[in-house]
Amino acid sequence: MIGSDAEGVCVYCNHCQPCPAGLDVGLINKYYDLAQAGDALAKDHYMNLEKTAQDCISCGHCDSRCPFHVEQGKQMQEIRAYFGK
Ligand code: SF4
Ligand code: SF4
Repeated sequence: MIGSDAEGVCVYCNHCQPCPAGLDVGLINKYYDLAQAGDALAKDHYMNLEKTAQDCISCGHCDSRCPFHVEQGKQMQEIRAYFGK
């Protein structure tokens, strides 16, 4: 990995907003990380979101705006596979 520790890792800052599909990119990533860390409530919170990773249209807007160079388009596919939504 090149650069700082945060390089390529979502820190939930939402500098990538606005998402044209209405996804709260930071919050979605936060719930994903929490769920993976074993937080049982995080999945419930995720499931209650109005827009989830499955609503991502892979437009690439967030990829071009993220200061940490997170490939969020790909990340959303991973998150959708994890939660099934
Ligand atoms: S993808 Fe980048 S800009 Fe968007 S919330 Fe994560 S770290 Fe921030
Ligand atoms: S790639 Fe997906 S999450 Fe990123 S701005 Fe486009 S629709 Fe939103």
